[in-house]
Amino acid sequence: MGLIDSAKKNILTKEISEVADYEKVSEDTIIRGIKDGTVVIPKNIKRTLKRAVAVGQGLKTKVNANLGTSPDHISIEEEIEKMKIAVEAGADAIMDLSTGGNLIEIRKEILAQCPVCVGTVPVYQAACQTVKQKKKISQMDPELMFDVIEEQAEQGVDFMTIHCGVNRETVEVLKRQPRHIGVVSRGGSFLVKWINANNKENPYYEQYDRLLKIAKKYDITLSLGDGFRPGCSFDASDGPQLSELSILGDLVLRARKEGVQTMIEGPGHMPLDQIQANVLLAKRLGHNAPLYFLGPLVTDIAPGYDHITSAIGGALAASYGVDFICYVTPAEHLRLPNAQDVRDGVIAARIAGHSADIVKNVAGARQQDFEISKWRKERNWDKQREFSIDPIKFEKERAKLLPKHNDVCTMCGEFCSMKEEL
Ligand code: SF4
Repeated sequence: MGLIDSAKKNILTKEISEVADYEKVSEDTIIRGIKDGTVVIPKNIKRTLKRAVAVGQGLKTKVNANLGTSPDHISIEEEIEKMKIAVEAGADAIMDLSTGGNLIEIRKEILAQCPVCVGTVPVYQAACQTVKQKKKISQMDPELMFDVIEEQAEQGVDFMTIHCGVNRETVEVLKRQPRHIGVVSRGGSFLVKWINANNKENPYYEQYDRLLKIAKKYDITLSLGDGFRPGCSFDASDGPQLSELSILGDLVLRARKEGVQTMIEGPGHMPLDQIQANVLLAKRLGHNAPLYFLGPLVTDIAPGYDHITSAIGGALAASYGVDFICYVTPAEHLRLPNAQDVRDGVIAARIAGHSADIVKNVAGARQQDFEISKWRKERNWDKQREFSIDPIKFEKERAKLLPKHNDVCTMCGEFCSMKEEL
């Protein structure tokens, strides 16, 4: 029985108890959220998670870290190391976006070793297999697209990004309303190519009931992908993006009816002044399904620092109601991230999430700030480290000081204002 069905019968699962405890909310709150579709717990029935994670309204903002090989850089060891570093840094979920090497083996290893939920974008594998057969992406076989989903479900994938909203209707909108830089979502661009070349409907959209059947069988959470997410500020909030969003809202309702958990994905690149409206629209058109945003990056001019541009957008988006932030690393737009990039990306996204949680009144968020500032005044460095978002970084920086600075830091030295009782 899937989680929605068991919640409807008020069955208390182990995962519901665990997440309620972690979130400091009642088990009833979680059950209610799952029943009405505002909360999801991504977990395949084939998997046992060391840490189950709930995503949705009223809960702590969660962070996902994307990993995965590319055709130009293939190392299972490096991806496993990145996964471990991401989880140690506090990632709540991992997505394996591999497109190079033996995708099945890479995923198997990640699923075996990852303590939190794992997501994928199955169309990547279908596209890679098609290219391996010396065919074009536009020749991708719809049966293969579904076989891959079933295969990944059987392996234990907990949530899947499926670009069901890239359909003939939204592709027409794209033709009528051309963009500055077109379609930047990898999965989205595969499907646009496929639809245009075959003059047929997107198989994921056309056979959505088949997709729901597989999702239901394994209790997979569908993350309805935003194939038309804006890839630059100039394309934000345009026709293709918003028409896709409206279709995703329909698909959320159909999934709920079948007892399938769903999230809606969001942009992308977006100027600061458009974020609030986008979150409100996505919540409204998405029937309050949990929102999973990539960033958004609030400017396009900072390659090398896009963990910062996305954290600015992520903080704002989450403060307006986004529930799940996909991290962006400093390597974005430049190269495949390394382990340090992954760590920096996770911490930046967690800072964004926590900043939002303070204003969303998420249980425990304000208290953490209250505690660290109390110990800052006391100049109790051990306690400050304990309540800091990155205790390892805290320790590393303090270790650079001489013993004479035990009581203060080198910023003001003997003029430390924390020592004054005013
Ligand atoms: S020395 Fe200055 S910066 Fe350092 S703790 Fe004291 S007041 Fe803060």
